[in-house]
Amino acid sequence: METLLDRHWHRLQAEKVIELMGSHGEKGLDQFQSDKRFQHFGENLIVGKKPRSGFERFLLQFHQPLVYILLSAGGVTAVLGEWVDAGVILAVVVVNSLIGFLQEAKAEKALSSLTSAMRVQATVVRAGETIVLDAAALVPGDIVLLRSGDKVPADVRILLGKELRIDESTLTGESVPVEKNAVAVDRDAVLAERSCMGYAGTLVSYGQGTGVVVATGNKTEIGRISGLIDSAKSLETPLTRQITKFSHILLIAILILASASFIFGVLQGEPASEMFMAAVALAVGAIPEGLPAAVTIILALGVSRMAGRKAIIRKLPAVETLGGTTVICSDKTGTLTKNQMTVQQIYSAGIVYNVSGTGYSLEGNIAGAEDDADASSKSLAACLRAGMLCNDARISGMPDSPVVEGDPTEAALLVSAAKYGLNLAEENADSPRIDELPFESDLQYMVTFHQAGGEIVAYMKGSVERVVACCEDMMVADGNTAPLDADEIMSRQDQLASRGLRVLAFAVKTLPKSDAYAQSDVQDRMTFVGLQGMIDPPREEARIAVEACQQAGISVKMITGDHAVTAQAIGSKLGLVGNNCTLGADCPVMTGWEIEELTDEELIGRVDEIPVFARVSPHQKLRLVMALQARGEVCAMTGDGVNDAPALKQADIGIAMGVNGTEAAKEAADMVLTDDNFSTIEAAVEEGRCVFSNLVKFIAWTLPTNAGEGLVILTAILFGVTLPILPVQILWINMTTALCLGMMLAFEPMEPGLMDRKPRRPDQPILGGLIIKRIAMVSLILLVAAFGLYEWEIQTGADIAKARTMAVNVFVVVEAFYLFNSRSFERSPFALGIMSNPLVPIGFVAMMILQLLYTYVPVMNALFSSAPLDVLDWAKILTCGFVAFAVIELDKKRVRGRKAQDN
Ligand code: ADP
Ligand code: MG
Repeated sequence: METLLDRHWHRLQAEKVIELMGSHGEKGLDQFQSDKRFQHFGENLIVGKKPRSGFERFLLQFHQPLVYILLSAGGVTAVLGEWVDAGVILAVVVVNSLIGFLQEAKAEKALSSLTSAMRVQATVVRAGETIVLDAAALVPGDIVLLRSGDKVPADVRILLGKELRIDESTLTGESVPVEKNAVAVDRDAVLAERSCMGYAGTLVSYGQGTGVVVATGNKTEIGRISGLIDSAKSLETPLTRQITKFSHILLIAILILASASFIFGVLQGEPASEMFMAAVALAVGAIPEGLPAAVTIILALGVSRMAGRKAIIRKLPAVETLGGTTVICSDKTGTLTKNQMTVQQIYSAGIVYNVSGTGYSLEGNIAGAEDDADASSKSLAACLRAGMLCNDARISGMPDSPVVEGDPTEAALLVSAAKYGLNLAEENADSPRIDELPFESDLQYMVTFHQAGGEIVAYMKGSVERVVACCEDMMVADGNTAPLDADEIMSRQDQLASRGLRVLAFAVKTLPKSDAYAQSDVQDRMTFVGLQGMIDPPREEARIAVEACQQAGISVKMITGDHAVTAQAIGSKLGLVGNNCTLGADCPVMTGWEIEELTDEELIGRVDEIPVFARVSPHQKLRLVMALQARGEVCAMTGDGVNDAPALKQADIGIAMGVNGTEAAKEAADMVLTDDNFSTIEAAVEEGRCVFSNLVKFIAWTLPTNAGEGLVILTAILFGVTLPILPVQILWINMTTALCLGMMLAFEPMEPGLMDRKPRRPDQPILGGLIIKRIAMVSLILLVAAFGLYEWEIQTGADIAKARTMAVNVFVVVEAFYLFNSRSFERSPFALGIMSNPLVPIGFVAMMILQLLYTYVPVMNALFSSAPLDVLDWAKILTCGFVAFAVIELDKKRVRGRKAQDN
């Protein structure tokens, strides 16, 4: 097995590599070999640099400006001989870091479980069988099949390449796909020139091929690079960056303010040590240090909630962008429709046949719709045979519970042929496939080549326009040919398509024998044999989701490769276009050809009003996204094929199909749907809006604490009175309220009516005028209440410890009441239902228990210089809480009244 470590595979002949690998070109490895090698080489996974240890990450939590301020404050306090204070500050710093560490771990866990849900699949030949495996199970010597859209699952020596092109930009940076074939290259060829090698992690962008695995896991080229790179995931998003920047600016401003007030106080003749404590209190109180971490947590929770609703977020920023989506461009087939196809009508040699039966069950038959029906038509037989042979799908579990492997469009063709009486095994035995030209969405057709007796027959299937363009004549019932009547075929297609049927055309041709066939062999002189129209019912839940989107001010566009008439019929069933609209000049369906004729400016001008785009190529998808973005839209776009990747990358939210999508599409996407269902997109948008609104609620709740504390300290300095709250007390307030109260808002369920609003504009500030006003109101209430009660105590001769305990409790109680207000900016918490987020009352009670401990337990009294209160004191404090609550609720009422008036 040591020879397996040789790295110069590219200079050896393909056969030689197979031999050295101890493999077999057709059969692949047997069970014994693959098991043994798996034990030896292990999983085909890239293990990145060892992630930081928990302890290291815990230490990193200390690397924050606030912690430095606190530690230096602690140091000075210690020097001043205040050992208790110094100890408490240190303890708080440690606890605070521990909380930060736990939050970060939770956020990372939410994200990492998602990446593991996204494993790559590989098609492998083992013991003569072609099977689909988790790519992690690959071992050197495995024979793998590559198809456009696949991710190359390991480093392979190419054994066969049919127009195989691989995008190696992940490895070489070169974005133009490289032609690959089996021909050995020079020993000194650099990576980018090794045209007979495929490297793990690169993407097959065109064609197909096979290869033998020569390296797996960290032994692959990409593995050797990634081994050096940190595997840690970034938890950053534009929003968290914005908030971090905001906190940094605030930090600097507050530090300047704190130093200024220190100097001011000293000049006023106050003792320097006292002024130092005041400056520290100001800094600790006014800086919203927990904000960025809390925002990350809220986003991460959103990610797990979305995963629960079948939308996997691949890039964290998508969580916040989703909420602001204004346009969703969706595929038709499989996303808006069920992708359970059944052929219902066949047109061949002038006759329309009806096919009975539903789903993939073989029950049903083919009967002529017209009186002169002739089921013995040679043309009909050729049409159904073409559908059966030019086909890569398999249906297992027959006859009771059919399961489709492969493209449902093709599975439907297997069923229609079987209903006619054709037998797949027999047909394959009679005319084995010797070559093929696979389906590419740019071509819109596929061709297979078969050895039928002494002849080579090509079967073609695809979109009517493309297939007919390759035809010269058409088959008639007795098997002879007649001149092609393209107009007749097109009008038959419209007839089928207007019922919403997806129509495919079929053609055949006899060819001379050849080693390999190319596109040029089938692009002329084909014989048209018929059309098959299959229904693909719209998903009921998609129709409801489309309506929900429209209600939410999000426009939905269907972008399909299918025919305009089919698209229109499905579109009207889904409520995308009016029911009685027919194709014509003012029709809301635009085709790819029409897009092609528009300049970018014209497209930008018209894209808005068109809900359905048909016969669209992937390149045109990209143009559509850019046109929408030029109009200032936030655009979500779905895709499944390899050529969709550019459009997915360009879109604000690229969405790939988890079931039927290619690896290339998933790689380019921000989000992957595990059920390929349009309604999942709508659900994700809903969650996105919910995350964003909870974020704003959290910010609106948390900032008054900081502003209020800052104001109290500043006022004290200005009036030259002793501090109403000490630095350690501020730390206590901030830490406990953030944990017991603020975090509860992250779990706030979706507010009713969230999907009745217009989407948030991208340039809209995070905090609107109303919210800033609320923050100001609560901050002022905190200032007046805390300072007022403190002074009242001092004036009536109370002990300073007790006066400060009053001030601290005012802060906590007011914030606890304000938490109920913060659940909605407009609705009262009673309207929402107090228990609709049970965590809020639970947090409230927990917070009150902590405050009782703070106030009455002697240890706490010693640590935080607090003192017991009596009932009357509590009455005063609770009054402040009620007043704050009432003031905000009255303001909400005013806002609701004004809104009602506007309507
Ligand atoms: P969509 O997914 O939006 O329906 P596709 O790109 O899959 O569009 O298909 C575009 C057209 O290509 C279809 O209308 C059909 O005519 C043709 N087509 C689709 N699938 C196949 C296939 N497997 N083989 C041949 N032609 C196909
Ligand atoms: Mg498709």
